[in-house]
Amino acid sequence: MKKLAILGSTGSIGNSTLSICESFPDRYQVVSLAAGSNIDAAFAQCLRWRPKAISMATEELASTLAARLKAEGVTGIEVLHGSAGSVRVATLPEVDFVVSAIVGVAGLEATYAAVCAGKTIGLANKECLVAAGELIIAAARENNVALLPIDSEHNAVHQCMRGGTPTEVKQIWLTASGGPFRNTPLADFEHITPAQALKHPTWVMGQRITIDSATMMNKGFEVIEACRLFNLPPAQVRTTIHPQSTVHSLVEFIDGSILAQISVTDMRLPILYALAYPERVASSLTFDLAALSQLDFSQPDLARFPCLRLAYEAAETGGKACIALNAADEIAVAAFLEGHIPFLGIPRTIEAVLQLTSGPRPASIGEVLEADLAARQCAREVIASQSSAILR
Ligand code: NAD
Ligand code: MG
Repeated sequence: MKKLAILGSTGSIGNSTLSICESFPDRYQVVSLAAGSNIDAAFAQCLRWRPKAISMATEELASTLAARLKAEGVTGIEVLHGSAGSVRVATLPEVDFVVSAIVGVAGLEATYAAVCAGKTIGLANKECLVAAGELIIAAARENNVALLPIDSEHNAVHQCMRGGTPTEVKQIWLTASGGPFRNTPLADFEHITPAQALKHPTWVMGQRITIDSATMMNKGFEVIEACRLFNLPPAQVRTTIHPQSTVHSLVEFIDGSILAQISVTDMRLPILYALAYPERVASSLTFDLAALSQLDFSQPDLARFPCLRLAYEAAETGGKACIALNAADEIAVAAFLEGHIPFLGIPRTIEAVLQLTSGPRPASIGEVLEADLAARQCAREVIASQSSAILR
């Protein structure tokens, strides 16, 4: 029986993880949960899973949840809050596997603490590896901790890597659907609305990652994530547009063989793979090979997707550039969703913030979070100056 902490339990990945726990009750036990602000979902999860502890984003939310549980006559659930709460949820002694699926750097401290506490990690939160990959990987090595990728591309690469040794790998190929604007004329990019950008052609996901898929920043983050997870330089992490999202990624070996992983477009499969690793577990997530008629692959157009170019540049620089890339993107995506900047304002903001970013590599998670805050502030200032320039 694996004992799980699920960070981000009320989100898309969190819910898919709980659905796996529902399907395999004698393999996985839910010990603790961390959620953001969705009280109703957190309350329902407490009733269903009776975790030992749950953490909410703020003290106020935690008190509201605690009061509702008390009114329902539910006892024995420790209700925590904030970063410290997520850290406690992730490091409880009885937990042996932590699913890291809080969105953004809000999940960083808990993920790092779980690694340092020697827990096995199922890693969905890519922002952690983008902002603090160097520190997290070093801590994982030091504590002999397995970081099992849940992000579908990295999960596919992890599976294909079992076909050879690291020195036999020539390069890896991360597939990208190309998002909803793969074929949109460049001239129309300036007028893309949030509603259009929120319609992903193949995956149903949280809002931030859906917009990041439309700009291809998601693939950019995944390039950095892959460099960290598989210890490869950016030049050996290639991207290819594959609109069917059937091949989840590929590994090319030095002898010319390319191994690809194919499965249904359903995040429960990579989650199950990570939870079950190194075993494989029988599931109903089968893929109908006979229905497969076409697989297309093409080079991404960096003029159409400047975010991908910015991510490769940040991957080369490392340190604060990656932190700024993620922080500026988070602020810019929120500003786009609120209608403050146009779609192309997202890469413009990030590029401006990257140009204003310099300084030594952070040596601790505290320094990463400081650099993150500074980059966010810088992004807000860039957006304010862009908006006033538009108004003038
Ligand atoms: P989501 O928005 O659906 O869920 C995010 C979760 O984080 C929610 O439970 C929310 O309550 C929680 N959260 C937010 N702020 C918090 C805070 N301050 N403290 C505690 N909890 C907080 O997002 P998602 O789509 O499930 O993605 C989660 C992570 O997994 C992201 O990093 C994303 O990039 C990555 N990922 C998602 C998918 C996918 O298919 N959804 C695929 C690959 C990677
Ligand atoms: Mg992915």
